[in-house]
Amino acid sequence: MENIQPILDRALAGERLTADDCTRLLESYDIARIGTAADDVRQHWHKDNIVTYIIDRNINYTNVCNVVCTFCAFYRRPGKPDTYVRTIEEICQKIDETIALGGTGVLMQGGLHPDFGIEWYEDLLRTLHAKYPTVQLHCFSPPEIHNIHLISKLSYEDVLARLKAAGLYSLPGGGAEILDDEVRKRVSTKCTTDEWLAVMRATHKVGLRSTATMMFGIGDSVVHRVRHLQRIRDLQDETGGFTAFIPWTFQREHTALGRRIKDEPTGMDYLKMLAVSRLFLDNIENFQSSWLTQGLRLGQVALRFGANDMGSIMIEENVVSAAGAHNEADEKMLRYLIREAGFTPQQRDILYRHVKREAAPNDDARDSATLRELNVAFAD
Ligand code: SF4
Repeated sequence: MENIQPILDRALAGERLTADDCTRLLESYDIARIGTAADDVRQHWHKDNIVTYIIDRNINYTNVCNVVCTFCAFYRRPGKPDTYVRTIEEICQKIDETIALGGTGVLMQGGLHPDFGIEWYEDLLRTLHAKYPTVQLHCFSPPEIHNIHLISKLSYEDVLARLKAAGLYSLPGGGAEILDDEVRKRVSTKCTTDEWLAVMRATHKVGLRSTATMMFGIGDSVVHRVRHLQRIRDLQDETGGFTAFIPWTFQREHTALGRRIKDEPTGMDYLKMLAVSRLFLDNIENFQSSWLTQGLRLGQVALRFGANDMGSIMIEENVVSAAGAHNEADEKMLRYLIREAGFTPQQRDILYRHVKREAAPNDDARDSATLRELNVAFAD
């Protein structure tokens, strides 16, 4: 086994890793060493021993989509009988339920609807922002912004400035999958690598922050994964607009790609990818564990492989669950997992600021769950 310790020592000394270093780490099986280094770097960024989570809700305003991604089990072609577009009343009801659970925001995304110009999205945001001025509207990933740009014939910057004026708070980094067209073109007809990056550049330029994501295991090799990380790091050097990086693995059930693809990433691959991302992306502060796709147990272990955030309690999720990820957790469960990994749990908002809920039960009450109580959800 290649000795990767000199690479890890350089990362721990604050030296920036090269693409070649990143390749060698991803090709290594020495994940205990890599994880320890990533844990040290996580500790350097987050000296307070706190691991955060957010209470928000995924709302999918439509499943109509005019492109084809072979890894997606969520979309429906326009005109098919099981398509939907959520009404404002339905969306408001979901937001009311989120607020009742102590939620601070919603993550709203949908398919690429062929008929919705920018006015439709502006109306939606304006209505929600007027009714819920303190709820953070974290909406529309780059492929959706690209779709609005095509329909309304506006630049990315104009689209984003108008959506921001209508109430958009920040942008989710979905739709990145693997930022390399060699892979993207084989599995999707949605926006290209350069277009995804250009939307994010424009997002940060108009003063909005965003997350960055990666979904691997869709026919990509280590080379493609390294290129993805390099592109994210370069853009972050340029804009500083990414709040967090969230990698996860392709979920194959009910997808066309899932029927074809032979290899799928293992738990080791996931932990290594997360840890190497923490080491290579030295300009991003927060890394999220994807317990939703990896299961609660591996999601907890991820907290010792570079992650400092457990993501959302997931009141509702329709996209990866359509592809086979059925993990669930409430606030008590996430707090339990964080505590049992040796950290202090802390609710946060979409920009990773700590949230103090006035009406929240105190920490003792929130942390009183026993393993027996939690076992139902833990049986993943
Ligand atoms: S991943 Fe998004 S863009 Fe691709 S088919 Fe599914 S809904 Fe449409």
